[in-house]
Amino acid sequence: MKKESIYGLPLEQLIEWLQDHGQKKSRALRVWDWLYRKRVANFSEMTDVNSECLELLTDHFILQSLREHTSQESVDGTIKFLFKLPDDNLIETVLMRHKFGSSVCVTTQVGCNIGCSFCASGLLTKHRDLSGSEIVEQIMKVQEYMDNARQGEKVSHVVVMGIGEPFDNYINVMDALRIIIDHKGLAIPGRGITISTSGLADKISEFADSDLKVNLAISLHAPTNELREQIMKINRVYPLEKIIQAVEYYLAKTKRRITLEYILLKDLNDQREHALQLVSLIKNIQQLININLIPYNPVDEHPQYQRSDHETMLAFYDVLKKHGINCSIRLEHGRDIEAACGQLRSKQVKANQG
Ligand code: SAH
Ligand code: SF4
Repeated sequence: MKKESIYGLPLEQLIEWLQDHGQKKSRALRVWDWLYRKRVANFSEMTDVNSECLELLTDHFILQSLREHTSQESVDGTIKFLFKLPDDNLIETVLMRHKFGSSVCVTTQVGCNIGCSFCASGLLTKHRDLSGSEIVEQIMKVQEYMDNARQGEKVSHVVVMGIGEPFDNYINVMDALRIIIDHKGLAIPGRGITISTSGLADKISEFADSDLKVNLAISLHAPTNELREQIMKINRVYPLEKIIQAVEYYLAKTKRRITLEYILLKDLNDQREHALQLVSLIKNIQQLININLIPYNPVDEHPQYQRSDHETMLAFYDVLKKHGINCSIRLEHGRDIEAACGQLRSKQVKANQG
């Protein structure tokens, strides 16, 4: 019998499973506490859980399926972990330290099929979706690293911005978020979680209808269809008007703000005219929009794209600000360890292939 990871079960399902196997609800709550609050590495460490229940758990579930393959620490405290999955696929997870807390950037798929032409992950087509437990376990592994360091550090924020398109693995990602939000467990607040999508408009609307109160970011990167199609072929399926329509629906339904991400690519989308086009694209909704300007992290395989220079970024920012748009330039983390989306993994995969 193939054992499942216990981190794939939301609390209600764990309670139900244990009850179906003759165990009380209170025992399930204790198991949950051992998993997410005390964070044991083995079922046998759950000292106040009876042996019958421990045997059931050991027979049906595994606790740790991810193994650390390598990790790299940046001078700014950012750590990039490369984890090996049971089928030997590699995924990456990044821990970033901020003044406001510690955030973990999780991967949602092995590779990505959206194929944005500037992204390192897009070079590796999708092998498979990650399961909900594989997403939860990335956070558990980083928390384990913190627990071992005994500094009392706790994962306070999660960004779903690693490799993969989270809305192309919608159900598993939503399940994982429910588990990490659970207030009896890791209790990461929904307002500390941000999910980033390349703009799958149907899913943006579905997400607006869901009960999950987490932040949404959309990778826009261009203010016109013509330009966006050049760098993101998904724009042929979900052009800007469909995305804006879904954004309007989301804003009306949830009353929460949305972040639009915009990578500044030298001479391609970083000119004054582009900033003005962006202003006009969002003029009806700008009160509820934050724009996050992202300095491009150069990727060896995409030499046609370069980072905009500092003055150009500031000039772009100024245009948006002058039009009353809430806007920021993203601080970079771990530039010295290639902490941008997909970069370490693509190097490792190439090294293994070569
Ligand atoms: N697939 C989702 C989430 C993962 S990518 C999405 O595209 O939104 C997370 C963010 O990193 C996206 O905004 C993406 O466009 C950006 N990104 C990808 N490659 C990058 C690079 N080389 N430099 C800077 N940002 C990059
Ligand atoms: Fe996939 Fe996001 Fe990279 Fe595009 S930017 S290829 S959607 S991971």
